Amino acid sequence: MASTASAATRGSKTRSASAANGRTAARSAAAKTSNKATETGKATAKASEMTKASEMAKGAAGASTTKNAAARQRMAPSGQPSEMQEGLKELFTAMLKDIYYAEKQILKSLPKMAKAAKTEELKQGFEQHREETAGQIERLEKVFAAIGQKAKGEQCEAIQGILEEGKEVMEDFKGKPALDIGLCGAGKAVEHYEIARYSSLRTLAQHLGMKDAAKLIEANLAEEMKTDKLLDQCAQTVMLSKAV
Ligand code: FE
Ligand code: FE
Ligand code: FE
Repeated sequence: MASTASAATRGSKTRSASAANGRTAARSAAAKTSNKATETGKATAKASEMTKASEMAKGAAGASTTKNAAARQRMAPSGQPSEMQEGLKELFTAMLKDIYYAEKQILKSLPKMAKAAKTEELKQGFEQHREETAGQIERLEKVFAAIGQKAKGEQCEAIQGILEEGKEVMEDFKGKPALDIGLCGAGKAVEHYEIARYSSLRTLAQHLGMKDAAKLIEANLAEEMKTDKLLDQCAQTVMLSKAV
């Protein structure tokens, strides 16, 4: 801003100087002496004017540099106030602890789901996802390490409730043809909870410039989305086989 303003000042000075020169040339040669005196006076006035302007510009530039430095102290790299950034970091850690707890509960629950499933495809699907879940927990531990924190879960009643529903399906539909379709639905509820958590965590990690954490979270998210689709396919297969 300061340099644009001073460029504009320079431009206007140049224009007024050339206009003054034009006017001087139009005057008669007889008035040369008095003109000279006038020009000298003008030049002196102009010189002092320029000094004043340059001092003002310097002052303005100095003030704006101080202002920018003060603003930078209050602002994070993303341009948001640091208070906001701190809040987002806190939220990221809270959600990370939430999903870490959830994954550990899911790891215990998946073998029970696999055991209950009657269809081979679904049984294998749950077993495969148990292995993936173990890997997801390791990725989360790397995320904790990346933010300099010890891996620690925070009890989450939401996932406890979702897994409880899964248990109810196993009990209520034991020995019934709809069991596996019920298990697919219970599994999908778990995957959707995880997808919600991981998408939020990924967005936060990206926003906070945590590239490695974002990649690890993205890998977990991809597996949950793949599992969600797989459960849809299993339910379709089971439904078709039952219909036959
Ligand atoms: Fe998971
Ligand atoms: Fe939760
Ligand atoms: Fe999952």
